[in-house]
Amino acid sequence: NRVVRLKRRPVGMASRDDFEIADEPVPQPGEGEFLVRIDYVSLDPAMRGWISPGRSYVPPVEIGAPMRAFAAGYVEASNHPDFTVGDAVAGLLGVQRYAVSKGTRVAKVDPAQAPLPRWIGGLGMPGQTAYFGLLEIGRPKPGDTVVVSAASGAVGSLVGQIARNMGCRAVGIAGGPQKCRYVVEELGFDAAVDYKAGHLDADLAAACPDGIDVYFENVGGEIFDTVLGRMNLFGRIPVCGMISMYNATEPPAPIRNIRSILVNRLTVRGFIVFDFQDRIAEANEALGRWHAEGRLKMREDVRQGGIDAFPDVLNELYTGGNLGKLVLAL
Ligand code: NDP
Repeated sequence: NRVVRLKRRPVGMASRDDFEIADEPVPQPGEGEFLVRIDYVSLDPAMRGWISPGRSYVPPVEIGAPMRAFAAGYVEASNHPDFTVGDAVAGLLGVQRYAVSKGTRVAKVDPAQAPLPRWIGGLGMPGQTAYFGLLEIGRPKPGDTVVVSAASGAVGSLVGQIARNMGCRAVGIAGGPQKCRYVVEELGFDAAVDYKAGHLDADLAAACPDGIDVYFENVGGEIFDTVLGRMNLFGRIPVCGMISMYNATEPPAPIRNIRSILVNRLTVRGFIVFDFQDRIAEANEALGRWHAEGRLKMREDVRQGGIDAFPDVLNELYTGGNLGKLVLAL
């Protein structure tokens, strides 16, 4: 079994030296457990937070422990009543070739309905994040303007499409012309703004002539500040992520437009997809249905290179090297 273990807590961007990657014996499932051979590992921006010290929404990965990750594969041996050899499964299995599971945070998936990587992407945790964050916290109404950052990514790409399905105007913020074209031409967003072009505020104003009712926040920093300045009265901001700050070694800059929260009576609310654990079936039903109807396009950016490529591929998320849900094939 090839396993990525955390060796030390990184400062700034994680590097290969922060992990120990080694061959170990394949674990054997005990009573009530099953063995999964993992084919795809999900790369998630949150991974940088999971290996940081300090208080968060989950305990950090311990030094010496396998790196936490969502992954998908097939059951190879089972002593568990609900999982059978040959079942396709996805869930929290770690960055490793084989994992033993008791079935906690692991579910059976249907490879006939969608390829395996999609079950750790749009039909998995990132899809559920878009669904609950937008609908429960963003509360979009038909005709609203919904802006989402990291718009071409795993979560953002779905947020804009779900907003469109709800009768909203969807505007994406993404880095570079290729991603902006993808968001409009392939995903059907109404407009996209390239924050790297250097005039985000003016471009946002042009793309949102009626202001912004919902801002689905994925990145934080300067983009958050600029969008704040264009929010409408009683606007909602689901705070899903702040990727621009995950590798920061300096304190963040002050937010110039913070007063917009008061003046416009904004609702700014953070959330974690796990908050909605008891309603996962509802999200899965809606995501599966829209996907089958062609109203939710999903794209996986699958990288080769196996377990050893993990640290380098992970960093693509923080430099914008991915287009769509970033997945490592083992
Ligand atoms: P993506 O597929 O969107 O990949 C990350 C993207 O973020 C990059 O492609 C890049 O796009 C953008 N990005 C990276 N650095 C910066 C930066 N400094 N400034 C602006 N944009 C940047 O990842 P996910 O869809 O998996 O995650 C998106 C967000 O959702 C993250 O913040 C993540 O932490 C959060 N999240 C939160 C969850 C929750 O439960 N609250 C669950 C899952 C995800 P570009 O090239 O356009 O800059």
